[in-house]
Amino acid sequence: MRRIYVTAFLGVMMAVSLMAQTASAETRLTLRQQSIARIAFCTGNGDLEGLKPALAAGLDNGMTVNEIGEVLIHAYAYYGFPRSLRALQTFIAVLDERKAQGIEDVTGKDASPISDSRSRYERGRDILAEISGVPADAPKPAYAEFAPVIERFLKEHLFADLFERDVLTYAERELATVSVIAALGESVEPMLRSHMAICRNLGMTQEQLGQVLLMAKNSVADRQAEDVFPKGDKLPDSPNFTGEAWLETLVTKADSMDCTVGNVTFAPGVRNSWHSHPGGQILLCTSGEGRYQEKGKPVRVLRPGDVVKIAPDVVHWHGAAPDSEFTHIAIGPQQAKGGAVWLEPVTDEEYNGE
Ligand code: MN
Repeated sequence: MRRIYVTAFLGVMMAVSLMAQTASAETRLTLRQQSIARIAFCTGNGDLEGLKPALAAGLDNGMTVNEIGEVLIHAYAYYGFPRSLRALQTFIAVLDERKAQGIEDVTGKDASPISDSRSRYERGRDILAEISGVPADAPKPAYAEFAPVIERFLKEHLFADLFERDVLTYAERELATVSVIAALGESVEPMLRSHMAICRNLGMTQEQLGQVLLMAKNSVADRQAEDVFPKGDKLPDSPNFTGEAWLETLVTKADSMDCTVGNVTFAPGVRNSWHSHPGGQILLCTSGEGRYQEKGKPVRVLRPGDVVKIAPDVVHWHGAAPDSEFTHIAIGPQQAKGGAVWLEPVTDEEYNGE
C-alpha cells in the first residue's frame, strides 16, 4: 500500500520536487521551518526514533519548548491523540536528557487568552477565510452539506481552538499541516493540494513546499526500508566511511557461494572512500536517496528500485544524499578474486559534483 502511495505521490509531486532540488538558497526553508516539517511528519509516521533528533534540532535551531510542543499538539488534529501523545512523551524524554547534560532550553511564551466574544464557529470560519483567501460565504463543499457536524467541528475545533493559539503563526501551522498530510499519504491528496494552496497564500514559495514534500517522501521511504531487512549493526569507525553506516550481513563467504550479500545503510551525507572490487559489485537500492560515482563520470542520484552494476576493478564510491538516509543491498560476486581495494577519501567537492 505504501509503495503504491509513494509511486503515485512521486508522479504528482515530481515537478515541485525537482524545483526544490534546484532552488536557490533564498527560496529554501529556514532551519526553523525544516524543524517544524520534520517534527510534524515524524510525529505522524510514529517514527519516534527519527523524532528525537528532530526535536533536539528544533531546540538547537532556536524553537522554544512551547513552540515545539504546539507542533505536536497541532498534529493530533490529523493523526489522532495516540500519535500526538506518544510524541509529547518522547519530547519530555528528550528535554530530560538535555537537562541532564546541562542544556537549558527556553520554555517560551504560552498562548494568549482569547478576548473575541463571537462564537467559536464564527471565529474559525473567519480564520479559514483569511488563510485560504476563499470567502466565508462561498458554497460549502459536499461533505459539509452531507455531514454538517464535521464542518462545525472543523471550524470550531481546528480553525478556532487550535489556530487561535498564537504560539505558532498561521503559516507555521499550515507548514506543519502540509508535512503531516504529506506523510499520511494514501488518499488524502486533495487535502494536500488545498493546504499547499493555503501555504502559498500565506507567503511560502513553491520551492519551499517542494522541499517539504521531498523531506516527507524521503522520510516515508526510510520507514519503508526498515520493514524489509534489518538495519544490522553500526560499523565501527573506519577511514573508509565518513560517518555512521550500518551493515546486516545476509550471505557470507562461509556460505560457500563465492558471493556475499549485505544490507548497507548510510546516515545522511555519509559516503565511503574511492574503492574497487576485484570481482565487481551489484547495488540494489531499497530506500532513501543515494549517490554513486565512477571515476571520471558524473555523480549519479540513486533511488529505491535503482540497480547499479559495477564491473570488476572499476574505481567508485557510494553513499547517502546530504539530507536523506540511504539503504542498498550490496552483492559481491566472485569473492575468490579478493575483497575491496580501498583508496583515498571522496572530497566534499567530488561528493557535491563540483
Ligand atoms: Mn563498492
